[in-house]
Amino acid sequence: MTKQWWLAALLGLISVMQAQAAEEVVVYSARIEKLIKPIFDAYTKETGVRIKAVTGKEGPLMERLKAEGAKTPADILLTVDAGNLWQAAQQGLLAMVDSKILNDNIPAHLRDPDGQWYGLSVRARTIIYNTKKVQPGELSTYEDLGNQKWSKRLCLRSSKKVYNQSLVAMMIARHGAARTEAVVKSWVGNLAAPVFSDDEDLIKAIAAGQCDVGIVNSYYVGRFKKTDPKLPVALFWPNQQDSGVHVNISGAGVTRHAKHPDAALKLLEWLSSDKAQKLFAGANLEFPANPGVQSDPLMAAWGAFKHDDINVSEAGKRQAEAVMLMDRAGYK
Ligand code: FE
Repeated sequence: MTKQWWLAALLGLISVMQAQAAEEVVVYSARIEKLIKPIFDAYTKETGVRIKAVTGKEGPLMERLKAEGAKTPADILLTVDAGNLWQAAQQGLLAMVDSKILNDNIPAHLRDPDGQWYGLSVRARTIIYNTKKVQPGELSTYEDLGNQKWSKRLCLRSSKKVYNQSLVAMMIARHGAARTEAVVKSWVGNLAAPVFSDDEDLIKAIAAGQCDVGIVNSYYVGRFKKTDPKLPVALFWPNQQDSGVHVNISGAGVTRHAKHPDAALKLLEWLSSDKAQKLFAGANLEFPANPGVQSDPLMAAWGAFKHDDINVSEAGKRQAEAVMLMDRAGYK
């Protein structure tokens, strides 16, 4: 065989390897395998592009991405809470992308103004109540949960959870620090029990009548209701006359050192499309971020609601301030 033949064969092999390499996207995902695998499988089926998902807790995944630097195999970081995505952007882990498809599909307040991350599903952190002890007409706003009438009737999850840090950060963005601190203090004054370590225990406590009202993410209620439709707990959409329900996102961004940035962007764009949005939001009983896509019937039955349209990036920007404020207010 001639030298030329070897060279041609080698070049051929390299181009095949490149083509194969281009057909894989590596996703670092803080969403568990069970929630993302069916969606990624649907994408592979449709496009032939393989997706390698590395799942883990958001903190360690972001640390890993940082430690790997330019050598990272990750093309996309997928996680929950705008507070986390904002941190990732602040740490320089994400790339700015400009995509008409993403900008058209995802409302401006659910994505980073610089295009470093995009919301893919919406989660509502809303009021819940024990249906045997509270009439929905007695409820109105988050702020009102500090009213005397809820004395020793309110339960909250720990302020250590990013969900509550984001809730309070968004309240600061809306009301300013002084009013927000007064509200948080009034909540603490109404607590029926020490703060809970997770939303599920809080829902159980409300169902058991240990407390009458609380604040949780709606998908946890969805999970309980799926297994026990008679559970005496219902959702209430607060602040419908003013700021709207506090929402957060799960979302994703292309990493700064992505090896397949074009394929990564294509996947993100697909995730914002009608078909993927239904799968992505429905998998965790969340709401689609794309407002043109209908919710899963279980959530649609909870009724339409107005949600806060302040950009969710405020949850990240004001996170440190929120943590200090909650500490001052005695919110453990
Ligand atoms: Fe959660």
